[in-house]
Amino acid sequence: MTSDGQRRGEGDLTAAVYAAEWLVPVSAPPIQHGAVVVQEGCIAWMGRAADVPAEFGVPVIERGVIVPGLVNAHTHLQYTGFLDVGAQRYDGFEHWSDVFGEAYDAVDPASWAPAARRGARMGLQSGTTVFAEIVTDHPARGALAETGAGGIEYLESIAERNDTWAAGGRDGFLAWLEGPASVRVGISPHAPYSLDGSVITDLMRIAAERGLRVHSHLGESAVEADLYRHGDDRVLGPYGDLRDEFELVRIGGTGVATAEYADGLGLLGPATHVAHAIYLDRAERDLLRARDTQVALCPRSNAVIGLDDAPVAAYLTEGHEISVGTDSLASSPSLDLMADVRELTRLARAQGYRGDDLHERMLRAATLGGAIAMGLDTSGYGALAVGGPADLARFDVVVGERDPREAVVVDGAGRCALTVCAGIVRHSGSRPDADRTYRRPAAARG
Ligand SMILES: [Zn+2]
Repeated sequence: MTSDGQRRGEGDLTAAVYAAEWLVPVSAPPIQHGAVVVQEGCIAWMGRAADVPAEFGVPVIERGVIVPGLVNAHTHLQYTGFLDVGAQRYDGFEHWSDVFGEAYDAVDPASWAPAARRGARMGLQSGTTVFAEIVTDHPARGALAETGAGGIEYLESIAERNDTWAAGGRDGFLAWLEGPASVRVGISPHAPYSLDGSVITDLMRIAAERGLRVHSHLGESAVEADLYRHGDDRVLGPYGDLRDEFELVRIGGTGVATAEYADGLGLLGPATHVAHAIYLDRAERDLLRARDTQVALCPRSNAVIGLDDAPVAAYLTEGHEISVGTDSLASSPSLDLMADVRELTRLARAQGYRGDDLHERMLRAATLGGAIAMGLDTSGYGALAVGGPADLARFDVVVGERDPREAVVVDGAGRCALTVCAGIVRHSGSRPDADRTYRRPAAARG
């Protein structure tokens, strides 16, 4: 009779109704047989399907679970063509970095833009509507707007030393930052090891002056900490002879731990979220929390690169609000965020997390957690709320007797049947053999 988001012939022509076996707003309890009415890009009404106002018609309840559009809190979509790099296995960050660097140097810059667009579409097809997208090369900009996705393009600064920054690096970065933007812009100081400290401090000043969000890599390499402490240059291997020019190498380190070093530069704070955050001890994690700096965990990327597992159970029990990222196809098998959510869930249990709220917290990490990490308006992003933007996804999963959040977290990967961004359908369809229509049990008829 109908399909997802049928446009009604009567009443308000701009209205579309989406209903499913379960609706999980994330910021409110799940609603069985829930429905959302979308008008002019926003959520006009939300509640039980049986209560949808008559002018919108009688909704047909589809199988599965409707959730807020997912927030991928760490991507580099320009590397969507780097499948060959991501398909290998590495014994650590430095090994991966060498292989990645060779692939990067061989790329035709004209391929960045189509690769980034392809990546954005892959994300949309798996339920992601918002991306924390790091842009390293100018031509990769614009993919989010061009595909109808949302998010922030964090312009990256990498491999700048005090001398290069003063001799044109800073001016070049500012010109880039001030160029035309198709979505919100942020700043990504790549990592505290790949930029001299005063460059990071300057970037943070620039971000603060302009009210921009910041996203960086922290604690991704097992030997990164040795640079901050002792000036050990192993993490700078890809820079070859130039690594001797970095200040930390020249001065023999600062004697402090990774998070403490980053904090001293001004990198940590409520406007910043950091990716990976693997090699941080309890005191460092506490420092992140004290600074209101959120982590974006990327477990499948970590596994490909051969890193240790992120301490996800510790982040959860210590009270962190966490988010999830796929990283790029240069280090991950797919851009399907729910596959990382499932892996994080497995890791949390394996690391001893016992709380019965795990699935709830994991779905929150993939939605509201990401929106908070990026400083977005959480009355509309990462959560479904009347008046907020209509970003939503439906996962064609069999819920059965489970909590709908468990069904999405455990089975959602590969099963996104619908993605709506700002009221516009950007992906629709499920496996051809799937019976998409959920049959309402007789007992539930009202
Ligand atoms: Zn990254």
